[in-house]
Amino acid sequence: RPRVSARLAAIAESATLAVDAKAKALKAAGRPVIGFGAGEPDFPTPAYIVDAAIAAAKDPANHRYTPAAGLPALREAIATKTLRDSGYEVKPSSVLVTNGGKQAVYQSFAAIVDPGDEVILPAPYWTTYPEAVRLAGGVPVEVFAGADQGYLVTVEQLEAARTPKTKVLLFNSPSNPTGAVYSPEQTAAIGRWALEHGVWVITDEIYEHLTYDHAVFTPIVRVVPELADTTIVLNGVAKTYAMTGWRVGWMIGPADVITAATNLQSHLTSNVANISQRAAITALSGDLTAVEAMRTAFDRRRRTIVDMLSQIDGVQVPTPEGAFYVYPSVEGVLGRTIRGVTPSTSAELATLILEQAEVAVVPGEAFGPSGYLRLSYALGDDDLVEGVTRIQALLAEAE
Ligand code: PLP
Repeated sequence: RPRVSARLAAIAESATLAVDAKAKALKAAGRPVIGFGAGEPDFPTPAYIVDAAIAAAKDPANHRYTPAAGLPALREAIATKTLRDSGYEVKPSSVLVTNGGKQAVYQSFAAIVDPGDEVILPAPYWTTYPEAVRLAGGVPVEVFAGADQGYLVTVEQLEAARTPKTKVLLFNSPSNPTGAVYSPEQTAAIGRWALEHGVWVITDEIYEHLTYDHAVFTPIVRVVPELADTTIVLNGVAKTYAMTGWRVGWMIGPADVITAATNLQSHLTSNVANISQRAAITALSGDLTAVEAMRTAFDRRRRTIVDMLSQIDGVQVPTPEGAFYVYPSVEGVLGRTIRGVTPSTSAELATLILEQAEVAVVPGEAFGPSGYLRLSYALGDDDLVEGVTRIQALLAEAE
């Protein structure tokens, strides 16, 4: 009999974390690597949030377990914040505080997917979704939207993928990895389609505050309120408040689903770190001034990186309107020879770029089909320019 269970043997390492680890290892070995791999803001957590955590850590009352579902004051703050940012009411009892948005993803699929259930997954998708679906015994059904359609799936595509086994649609706008943002009209049309066919929606709204130009974030439950009974909303403090290391996320859903997910969590991890929850209360109860300052910096870097990548022959760059990723198509580079190597896939191209230019990028294979690269622009302006300049120089050698 195999030593590792079939269920876990089927899971691949997170490709984005792997690229980041490789870049950090090269850096530690003294190489001047520039990393576009990690999905995390380069800013420190705003000082008033850190100060609140320090004060909380000094109070012995906070050295204990909290309820598995989270501190009542944090669940309350999340409900209040949801009304402020998304425009609809939720009860604090509908909120489950999780160890980052990632645990919320896992627990959401675990709570509503049975073996054989199909989950429609618009692609390119965030690496973790298909693995979380498979862990629940579900079957990910990819619906691909390429650069030509702005990485946005249509209702017609979703309908073509729907079968009697379809249980859930995964919706993620603004999107990791593409930076695409669905318009209010597109969001409403997709929400109405899901409602009409009894398809559950898991909506990952972790990039809600990072939109640019004319794009706006649209909470799907606000535009189709009848969906509330069959929707799970995922969110967290990581991207909005530069709090990736604090590990606080949450899920909001109907009572039976939240109860089931809380039961799972009570055996899996119990509560999120008490001090981190206190920090999150401060983050969510404050205003969005610090967030806006970071968003302005991301916007500036977004323009720079789109401009610079667009100058490369063979690279097509749809302008991202949300999150902090750009997702160029590199089809026009594949099959050409660079320093004696002829990459035929984006994975091979990413390896070449890391080895020859000492720049880390994540290949499209981590998010769906080959032919694309994901670059995070949540890094310092100077590093960003230096890194893309190196890519430009390397790819200019393609013949
Ligand atoms: N959802 C998306 C789309 C993400 O990109 C991430 C992080 O990369 C998460 C959820 C989870 O973030 P965390 O677990 O750090 O809260």
